[in-house]
Amino acid sequence: MTEPAAPAKRPAGRGRNLELSEELKAYKGVWVFVEHDRGHVHSVSWELLGEARKLADTLGSPVGAVLLGGADEHLDKFAAEAISFGADTCYLMTDPVLKGYRNEPFTKGLTDLVNKYKPEILLLGATSQGRDLAGSVATTLLTGLTADCTELNIDPVSKALAATRPTFGGSLYCTIMTLAYRPQMATVRPRVMLMPKADSSRSGTLVHDMLGMVETQIVTKLLDFIADAHSNKINLPYADVIVSGGKGLKNPDNFKLVFELARVLGGEVGSTRPCVQAGWVEAERQVGQTGKTVRPKLYIAAGISGAVQHRVGMEGSDVIVAINTDPNAPIFEFAHYGIVGNAMLVLPALTKAFAEHLSKRSAQVA
Ligand SMILES: Cc1cc2nc3c(=O)[nH]c(=O)nc-3n(C[C@H](O)[C@H](O)[C@H](O)COP(=O)(O)OP(=O)(O)OC[C@H]3O[C@@H](n4cnc5c(N)ncnc54)[C@H](O)[C@@H]3O)c2cc1C
Repeated sequence: MTEPAAPAKRPAGRGRNLELSEELKAYKGVWVFVEHDRGHVHSVSWELLGEARKLADTLGSPVGAVLLGGADEHLDKFAAEAISFGADTCYLMTDPVLKGYRNEPFTKGLTDLVNKYKPEILLLGATSQGRDLAGSVATTLLTGLTADCTELNIDPVSKALAATRPTFGGSLYCTIMTLAYRPQMATVRPRVMLMPKADSSRSGTLVHDMLGMVETQIVTKLLDFIADAHSNKINLPYADVIVSGGKGLKNPDNFKLVFELARVLGGEVGSTRPCVQAGWVEAERQVGQTGKTVRPKLYIAAGISGAVQHRVGMEGSDVIVAINTDPNAPIFEFAHYGIVGNAMLVLPALTKAFAEHLSKRSAQVA
């Protein structure tokens, strides 16, 4: 008989041991990576600061905001804003090679700061930049990362970050904890968390650090920036009014009725995944688990069944109005107002009624 194969050797502290090592127990504080681009901070960073504040208050820990950038990128101004949104300390790293996002210098900068100041939680927006950076930071630090979370809590027993996200195509919600490694990392999409109120009376501390990397060490070169004119036009996550259409509209011609109502209401047009897949509308208009998360004041859903993968992207809307021929459609379970009827008749009727109402109102104002 041959001996069974010996188990693979793992580095100390890894494997099934879920106890935090003494060194990792020293990690304290909830950090948010503040994403900025050509003079503007992405709102998701402030949404995450609001969430970080709640998590940190539960843990009795401070909130840190991390800003990396070039010397002329006004990081001090962004840090003041971060403090007003809930940060206690802002970690600022300025260096010519940090002007304009590139993975290598940002990964080095953020991992250096984490190794030096040891936060227990690190949150990033699930934007193109945040997704790119979070993956390389987590793998460099050999820690756990939960992507695209829809809810963040502190587990009352382990005090670990309980990061919840949809999984198996949205059929399950899964809560993931990083028990044996630090920091515990998570990304969250824009608009999933509420925007906190800014409080200009708050005060905080600024901590400046150096990167110590030179241009010749960086393989990626930023030659030019070409704005995607198309994506700037459709800003679903931050629209106040969205009129969305689904497969119940039957064909792309009828989808024009959705565009007309959105135009009269000064809103954006959204859609379900099958309509995008059928080529009726642009992919940027897809709302849901594999599309955008939206939080408008008004969401009108026409010919949409209300599948969970669509619901997770829009249930945070203040008011949901559903138009559907089927009174048993799942959308009526969570819509605030429901119209059982044919969208091809209801949409033009609403467009006409709103147009008349709004023109009367503007006549009164004039
Ligand atoms: C991994 C995964 C990810 C997914 N991600 C997303 C996502 O991000 N976003 C998304 O939307 N979906 C997503 N889906 C698909 C999702 O499961 C549903 O298939 C989809 O949301 C259904 O779209 P729908 O409501 O347009 O179509 P249907 O489910 O076909 O519903 C059409 C509705 O229109 C109604 N209707 C029919 N005729 C009329 C009429 N004349 N007037 C009014 N109502 C009418 C019907 O009663 C029905 O309720 C995903 C699926 C998977 C597996």
